[in-house]
Amino acid sequence: MRYRFGMLTLEEARAAILAEISPATATETVPLAQAHGRFTAQTLSAQVDNPAFDNSAMDGYALHTADLLGAGFVLPRHGESRCGDPPGRLAPGTAMRIFTGAPLPAGADTVVIQEDVKQEGERVVFPRSVQAGSHLRRRAEDFRQGDALYPRGRRLGAFDLALLSVAGVAQVPVYVRARALVVATGDELVAPGTPLRPGQIYESNRLATLLMLRELGVEAVDGGTVRDDPAALRELLKTSMDFDFIVTSGGASVGDHDLVRQVFAEIGEIKFWKVKVKPGKPIAFGHVGTRTHFFALPGNPVSSLVTFKLFVEPALIAWHHGVPHLPQLAATAMNDFRRHPGRTEFLRARLVTQDGKLLATALHGQGSHMLGPLRETNGFIRVEADSAGFRRGETVTAIPLGTDFS
Ligand code: AMP
Ligand code: MG
Repeated sequence: MRYRFGMLTLEEARAAILAEISPATATETVPLAQAHGRFTAQTLSAQVDNPAFDNSAMDGYALHTADLLGAGFVLPRHGESRCGDPPGRLAPGTAMRIFTGAPLPAGADTVVIQEDVKQEGERVVFPRSVQAGSHLRRRAEDFRQGDALYPRGRRLGAFDLALLSVAGVAQVPVYVRARALVVATGDELVAPGTPLRPGQIYESNRLATLLMLRELGVEAVDGGTVRDDPAALRELLKTSMDFDFIVTSGGASVGDHDLVRQVFAEIGEIKFWKVKVKPGKPIAFGHVGTRTHFFALPGNPVSSLVTFKLFVEPALIAWHHGVPHLPQLAATAMNDFRRHPGRTEFLRARLVTQDGKLLATALHGQGSHMLGPLRETNGFIRVEADSAGFRRGETVTAIPLGTDFS
């Protein structure tokens, strides 16, 4: 309520969203292979030690260093330890052939790599520099059975699934996926594939929003396009209160036909609707019904994409008990940008790495209706509210949107 009438800063709006989110309570347990991109609902602990047993890091010979000194660095070869074998026992005064990952036999204290030895029939000649404890992987040196590997609220990626596999975790408790309804609003909007009549435009926000939600692991449902008609909007909100989120685009501003915000205020509760960001000032956030979070994003395509990244994405991460984080990196500006201070601005930018440095170019064509520069956009340059811009060579704040900086 406190926020409703004033214009919030970016940070205030983000904090208000996080304060308002009612996070998921329902969980489910899924097989490991289906846990990719899901958020953990409990601490995940190792079921086994890793390594599970002492083993060799290299192909070579396992032996006991004291035997070597006694035998003048020549030992008879005896036995073999292969991957998958149970751990054997080293016969005193001998060297055992061993392979990478194979169990270290009891009685051995080191491995000498095969490149460092000479084979003479059944005898192996060792170098004089052998040290106990070489080329070994010790049981549990990575982690121990029972160690906590992940806290609650971690989103699991491919690396994590590799670790959990080795740790013997077969079933993963995760939060259910948020269900989100995505709707475009506007009488002018038609789907690509239909010829345009005068005054119409092709609708672009819904597909991108659906896809960005799915990238976050959300179950995103396409709610189509709704006309600028209060009755249709009322019907939409009233019949969608079983979703965790509704994300609309368009109609969030103060024009006569910007009805989304009006209907939202009538049926739900708006927490705020103006944020000092550019692009994207009119963005309304609040609830409808008892469980549904509602974002009314601006209709301008660029504004809707930017406000999604700034506000909707952190809300969904928080809903799944994750910790949202907007990565901000120092970069060198490759061009000048001047403006009137006032709002925190996010310029579509091309970020590249060169000699280990990040360089950021503000793309030409920053109008919030201009999609052309999206072809090259792989990040934003953040311009602080009180800033009048930057000059080439100055350090700016860059927000990467991916990992391709070529
Ligand atoms: P609005 O926020 O409804 O005032 O719309 C602002 C501008 O964005 C107008 O030029 C709309 O035609 C355009 N617009 C609104 N929604 C969409 C959409 N889903 N796809 C493409 N353009 C849109
Ligand atoms: Mg509109």
